[in-house]
Amino acid sequence: MTAGKRSWGAGIWFSQATPKFAFMAWITMKDRLATMDRVFGWCQGVDTTCVLCNNAPESRNHLFFDCSFSSQLWEHLTRGFLHSSFSTNWDAVVRLIIAPGMEKQKRLCLRYAFQTTLYKLWRERNKRRHGERALPLQVLSKLTDKAIHNKLSLLQSKRVKGHILQYCFSTRL
Ligand SMILES: [Zn+2]
Repeated sequence: MTAGKRSWGAGIWFSQATPKFAFMAWITMKDRLATMDRVFGWCQGVDTTCVLCNNAPESRNHLFFDCSFSSQLWEHLTRGFLHSSFSTNWDAVVRLIIAPGMEKQKRLCLRYAFQTTLYKLWRERNKRRHGERALPLQVLSKLTDKAIHNKLSLLQSKRVKGHILQYCFSTRL
């Protein structure tokens, strides 16, 4: 395992992570999700259009977060505390997640928002691909907020240092 891989592993398998979210983030980091650009490699003729925006071919980097649908969710969750380092570019986001020296609360908000967003977007994508009714962005935003809020409340009740919940949510745009 290279040093690079070890460091992005730390950005995912941190002690407060939710295992199913962390696992999904791990697969995504390795670009092993069955996104349509990869599916096309073994099954030509499939429709590769992104089902979240219906406006571009689907790939890992498109879904996270070049997509006009995904990028709005990501912006809602993180721009308020990332300020000028906010980005929708996959490589830039990953760099930020493993960057040394980020303040602890901010890092936990970012890492947790990252894996929760990946999980929620991928699940929504799968539902749409299987013909289920699309959730509007506002609803998905609320559900993602709620998942993050619940997790952080739990951490706070275990007396994790600092007011992480307040920090993450007071900075929402
Ligand atoms: Zn899209």
